[in-house]
Amino acid sequence: MLKINNTLTRQKDEFKPQSFPQVTMYTCGVTVYDDCHIGHARSLYIFDVMRRYLKYKGYDVKFVRNITDIDDKIINRAIELKINWQELVKKYIDRYYEDLNALGVEKADFEPRATENIPDMIKYIQTLIDKEFAYASGGDVYFNVRKFSEYGKLSGQKIEEMEAGARISPTGLKKDHLDFALWKASKEGEPFWESPWGNGRPGWHIECSVMSQKFLKTDTLDIHAGGRDLVFPHHENELAQAEAFTGKPFARYWIHHGLLTINGQKMSKSLGNFIIVKDVLSKYPADVLKILYLQALYSSPVDFSWEKMDEAKHAYERFVILFQKINRKFDVIMPEISASNSNDNKFIEEFDRAMADDFNTPMALSVLFNMVNECNKLLDNNASIARQLMITIKQLGNVLGLSFKGAREESSEVWIMDAIGEREKLRKEKKYKEADGVRKMLEEKGIVLEDTKEGTTWRKKL
Ligand SMILES: [Zn+2]
Repeated sequence: MLKINNTLTRQKDEFKPQSFPQVTMYTCGVTVYDDCHIGHARSLYIFDVMRRYLKYKGYDVKFVRNITDIDDKIINRAIELKINWQELVKKYIDRYYEDLNALGVEKADFEPRATENIPDMIKYIQTLIDKEFAYASGGDVYFNVRKFSEYGKLSGQKIEEMEAGARISPTGLKKDHLDFALWKASKEGEPFWESPWGNGRPGWHIECSVMSQKFLKTDTLDIHAGGRDLVFPHHENELAQAEAFTGKPFARYWIHHGLLTINGQKMSKSLGNFIIVKDVLSKYPADVLKILYLQALYSSPVDFSWEKMDEAKHAYERFVILFQKINRKFDVIMPEISASNSNDNKFIEEFDRAMADDFNTPMALSVLFNMVNECNKLLDNNASIARQLMITIKQLGNVLGLSFKGAREESSEVWIMDAIGEREKLRKEKKYKEADGVRKMLEEKGIVLEDTKEGTTWRKKL
């Protein structure tokens, strides 16, 4: 039973999606005005791990991760660089996908961009006005926070307290200083879209309410996730907009990851400690950065340092060295087919218990290291059991998004292994004709299979 630390209820809740086995999941993605830094990488990666684990547990996860491609930061950066904002956006979307790819973070089912969904946002805003949750004011549109009585429930604040704390009189076009913009009139020279309120662009919060419901095809999401820094005001506002719009709960489980510091300091350009994903991945395999992240609970802060990266690298090498030793033991190359045994099952259960407890990755990772120790002990006298355990390590590692690239012997020819694995699977399903087809296909390519007690081996035809 999976338990999730839910920001909304402030407790660990049992995870029950609305319509099992389907899970709808949305995370707030990047704003594309600069390269992804390692704080973004943590966010992208940790939610990829959650998605992988849910899939591993048999859930059918529908996942949406947006791209914010219009925003003040984008406009300002484009002005600073003296380029067109679309050019800036295109450049950083391309670089974002390079990073995702290098990190081995899977694509979402939908990756909607704000600028491609503006008509939907305009309709949504109009409905909020019609329902009197929002008002137009001089070309802007604002959400009237006082009309939504539950405002503050996600971040655990009361409107009166926010008021008392601030004591700011409403500025300009707002009725109340807590009100936030759904639509902003464009200033001279800024990008704009036509709307019933004049030329302008959407505020940041509205895109997530609109695109999550649109692409997940639901009023109520199972999971909404993001960084802790987004709880207020971004997620509070998303929630207010969506619940005012539908009259239904917006998301059932709100998951927030802790933030990242560098040597104990906040990462910022002015401090000169800004580290982008590309810097790290030019020095270390992605798995090493992932190990550093896995060592902390997702909900806790992570402190990054190059020393910690070196420590993570040493830890990672324990996998690499073991896998190479095992592969060398076997002078024939055999496909990696899992055949669970009781020894492996014990570890699989421990791994699962860790992950089911609010995705406790430090614990899950320590199970993998215990498996490495066990494997090393088995290696001399029980090599085939060690090899089986290695296969299980790789499978569980894969749930954590670890690829162990570079840990594989170079001589292993992956496509042959895949074909042998496929044949084995077909034989287990008693599809002997199809299995024999795979054997013939390999033979035509000069690969001869030999079935032995230890499994199937192959050699090149003489
Ligand atoms: Zn969002």
